[in-house]
Amino acid sequence: MSLTDRDRAHVWHPYTQMLTQPPLLPIVRGEGVYLYTEDGRKILDGISSWWVNIHGHSHPKLNAALTAQAREIEQVIFAGCTHRPAVELAERLVEVMPPGLNRVFYSDNGSTAVEAAIKMAVQYWRNRGESQRTGLITLHHAYHGDTVGAMSASEDSLFTRAFTPLLFPVARAYSPYCYRCPLGLKRASCKIDCLGDLEQRLEEQGERTAAVLIEPMLQGAGGMIVWPAEFLAGVRRLCDRYGVLMIADEVLTGFGRTGRMFACEHAPVKPDILCLSKALTAGYLPMGVTAATETIYEAFLSTDRGQAFFHGHSYTANPLACAVAIASLQLFRETDVLARVGRLERQLRAGLEPLRSLACVGDVRVIGGVGVAELEGDSGYLADIGPRLGAAFLERNLLLRPLGNIVYFMPPYAITDTEVEWALEQIREVLGAV
Ligand code: PMP
Repeated sequence: MSLTDRDRAHVWHPYTQMLTQPPLLPIVRGEGVYLYTEDGRKILDGISSWWVNIHGHSHPKLNAALTAQAREIEQVIFAGCTHRPAVELAERLVEVMPPGLNRVFYSDNGSTAVEAAIKMAVQYWRNRGESQRTGLITLHHAYHGDTVGAMSASEDSLFTRAFTPLLFPVARAYSPYCYRCPLGLKRASCKIDCLGDLEQRLEEQGERTAAVLIEPMLQGAGGMIVWPAEFLAGVRRLCDRYGVLMIADEVLTGFGRTGRMFACEHAPVKPDILCLSKALTAGYLPMGVTAATETIYEAFLSTDRGQAFFHGHSYTANPLACAVAIASLQLFRETDVLARVGRLERQLRAGLEPLRSLACVGDVRVIGGVGVAELEGDSGYLADIGPRLGAAFLERNLLLRPLGNIVYFMPPYAITDTEVEWALEQIREVLGAV
């Protein structure tokens, strides 16, 4: 029996309506930017396996780090114990993260990195005697994960709707979605007026707010929305003015995806709390990091055990994941990965900008290693065009998963210029035929 037939008997896939799902891709191997199927196909991974992969699949140095660590210690409780990979990864992260983020809290994935950040922010204020500060301000089009806190922080959407009764209320402010400006302005002449909405929220409820939570520079699942850096700078300014914490969710943008090591560097701004996952382990193993400033950490220091941060997962600081993350950061140093992303950005810009002349293309956006074409017509995740285009790309052995009418290309940075050119040609041809 084939892998897909066996899969159908017992496996339950995310985001998938199994009754109408086209045949699954049975992946048996990965190397570089390619995925190999059971039936002999070679497919270019144009979405970095859900945005996690950066150096390519089955990388020899990452494989070596993983197996070497497995021979030492594979997993140990992280309450009351410590280990070299966790300590060393924290040291390496503090070296590269925006200055001031001095404390590294480990968890399991992007959603838990966000959950921990929200809880950390709320307890920070409580420990400091300001227990009225429990509110959260987030942005429209936000996506922060699938756990209940992360869903509460996310835009009300298909992903959250079935669970609305479980979610806690948050205030939402405009995001700088310039192509669909919430104020109907033009970027060329506006003065980032949309920031005024966040200011208003803070004016109304700043004193009850624990934190403003954002995805800096690139809102991912909410539509691959690329920001003007001035908006990001403005968020920091407003958080300072109203005395609330700024949480940057860089689960997607961290580790070079937007062309800088962290998207916060575009402004540049220093968040109080930073959420990391996905490329943290180069796409090898699930791991989350919630990094915080020393000021936040100090608010948890007390002789009262009740003031400790009561959040911990079984696999906190898993040594295998830490070892791969350390090896990934080593690759950043050895091979000037960010210069590679810069070249990729230029190639994406040159290859995608011409798409603007197509009637079906409304907007083209590029930042770092992410190229986006927003199509006119039906919008939203369930827009029919998404699966239709996805199938057309796959026929050409290019794996893309449009978010409804948002087509994006986000390959591992290890992709070669020739492979990028080939993928862009497929995108141009498929969109040219829409
Ligand atoms: N935050 C952002 C910005 C994300 O893009 C994602 C995942 N797409 C998450 C959080 C949640 O991460 P995970 O899927 O690892 O829980």
